[in-house]
Order: sequence, then C-alpha cells, then structure tokens
Amino acid sequence: MIGPEERAAAAAVLEGPILVHGPRIAAFEADFAAFTGAPRAVATGSCTAAMHLAYHAMGLGPGDEVIVPAQSHVATAHAVALTGAKPVFADCELPAGNMTAAQVAPLVNGRTRAIAVVHYNGIPVDMPPIMEIAQDRGLAVLEDCALAVGAWRNGVHVGLFGDVGCFSFYPIKHMTTLEGGMAIGRNEALLARMAHLRALGVDRSHGERAIPGEYDVSAVGFNYRMNELQAAIGSVQVSRLPVFLEQRRCNAAAVAAVLADRPDVSLIVPSDDEAIEAHYCAIALLAPELADHRPAIMAEMKAQGLGCSIYYPRAIPDMTCYREPDHRPDVPNARRISASTIALPVGPHLDNDDAAEVARGLCRAIDKENR
Ligand SMILES: *Cc1c(COP(=O)(O)O)cnc(C)c1O
Repeated sequence: MIGPEERAAAAAVLEGPILVHGPRIAAFEADFAAFTGAPRAVATGSCTAAMHLAYHAMGLGPGDEVIVPAQSHVATAHAVALTGAKPVFADCELPAGNMTAAQVAPLVNGRTRAIAVVHYNGIPVDMPPIMEIAQDRGLAVLEDCALAVGAWRNGVHVGLFGDVGCFSFYPIKHMTTLEGGMAIGRNEALLARMAHLRALGVDRSHGERAIPGEYDVSAVGFNYRMNELQAAIGSVQVSRLPVFLEQRRCNAAAVAAVLADRPDVSLIVPSDDEAIEAHYCAIALLAPELADHRPAIMAEMKAQGLGCSIYYPRAIPDMTCYREPDHRPDVPNARRISASTIALPVGPHLDNDDAAEVARGLCRAIDKENR
C-alpha cells in the first residue's frame, strides 16, 4: 500500500538536506497523536524498541516481574526480558484471544512491577478491570498495540488506558514506515523520559545548541530513533488509515459471511459489544478434530495461490528461549490458538471478492482434507 503520495514524500526527504532529527518526525508524531487522540506521541525505530525503551524508562531490571500474555508476538516478552526482568505468562480467553483481569490477578506477587497487555488481532482488551488491578497493586501497564491501530473501547483508542501504548509500522501491519514504531500515552513524565533515552540521552536537540556540536549527555540511552524518510511515509499512511480500516472492516465481513455456516470453523471475535476492532486478519479457529490437518490445509491454500499465515506459531512460553525445564505455564487457550488457527488476509490490498475467495479457498482445502 505504498502509493504515489508516499513515493513523493520519500523523494522530498531524499532530495532535501535533513535525513534525521528533523521536522518530519515531529509532524508524524503530531499526526499520529491526532488520529488516536493521544496527548503525546514518541516515534521509534520499531515497536520492540518502543516497548524496551518504555520498560527501561520505568527502571525495570533483574528481580522484577511483568505479566505478559502467552498468546502474543515474542517481542511482547523480549521487551521485558531485555531489561533483565522476568516475563510471567498469562493465558487468554476465547473467542477473542485476549488476556482478562481474572487471568492476570493470580499471577501478581511482590515482585510484579507491570502488566503487559496485547490487543490481539486488533480486538481491544477489556481494560477497565485490568487497570483496577494495576491501580490497587501499584503496577505500570504497557499496551502492545502493534496489531491495533484503529481499535477503540468506550471512545478511547487503545494505548491510552495504561501508562504507555506501543505501535508497529512493520510492513504487514495496518500502516507502514518500512520499519518503525510509536509510543503514545497519558503518562507525560514516562513519555518524556522515553524521548530522551531514544536518542542516547543527549540533553539538547540540534536546534537548542548555542554552539554547533556542543551538548552534554545526562543518561545512558539507546539509538532507537526513527528517521525522516520513515516519518514522511508515516504521515501519508496515517492520512490513509480511515480508508484502510474501512476496507479491512468490509473484507472481514466478507470472510465472516463465507464461513458463517461452517460447523468446523469459527472466528476470533470480540467477547463483548463495546469493542471497536481494527481487523488485522480474519483468524479462523479450526474445530479440535481438524487441528492435526492444519499443515495440509495451509499447504493446499498455498498451492491455490491464497495467502494465509499463523498468529502466532507457538505460545511464547513454548518458544525455545522461554522454555523452562521445571515449569510449564498453564496456558491452554494460548496453545489452542497457536495450534488450531489460520489467519486469512483482510488488508486493503484486497477487495471484498478477493477476501471472500480466500475464505472459500479455506473451505475447499478443509473439504479436500475431510474427503
Ligand atoms: C509485529 C508485532 C510486534 C513487533 O513489532 P516491530 O515493529 O517489528 O518491533 C510486537 N508485538 C506484536 C503483537 C506484533 O504483532
């Protein structure tokens, strides 16, 4: 979904004198803040960078624990582990695939410092009960919104319930800056610390230097910046988001219509009526007896030239780097989603007929397996 406007914006950066530390970052941050209703936005090199930066800025380290959904991208856990803190894995509910307050509460102990929430597949988590636990126990809340730009609950955009919300602009997300990320939030002090630490902890920007090249460094920081080319593309993509999101909604409805009568397939959908989804993919949950056939079903779809994928191929605690010899977290729903779902594309590169055709392809592949 890179069009003439993105190309022109990128060319303007390449033809100009400023490639980093320029006005396009500030403009993109303002555009993204306006779209989400956030008081402040901080652009980063990726969502993973934004999350690591957030935990680092919170002062997390060895001995601390963060509750993390088992059903997520591994980056949700990596951002915690990179600080030296320990991710403690919570299960999710069905049919939404999201973590609930009831699943979080038993995992809170004296070492817990924060709760990470992921709005799986663009479905907003039921945040108020989770915020209640956080407030009672004095915990920070980070929302991983990598799949959820355009998701709202009770009129609030995701990322604005907790302390900080982090977004991804990796190419397969709702909008792209090639690589890129953004943090938003209401915790002004935290966001300011993140902005400082994303650029090596340098104490003043180029515009603030009385003598060129003269600065001091007041904290140990990262190079987690976004550049001007990415930001210029990002501003164009934000302006197209409403159209992208509407096409996703229509495509998801087309897939749901095709699958409506299938007894052997259900969809990952919100558990309540308050959620406004961002429709990342149409995620088809196969009936238990079909789970073992998933590789063959997906191979058949691939042979038909139809796109499909898995989000995510294993629960995070079952990934080699998080496996513990003496402890296997009890996360049956996360494992069920990992083992038994097929994600169908609904992105704006498809129209309704394309999306429906992919869903019909899934049905054909299942029927072939069942024969
Ligand atoms: C893609 C994704 C990430 C990682 O985003 P990057 O921008 O590639 O770092 C993190 N969390 C979730 C839920 C994702 O889907």
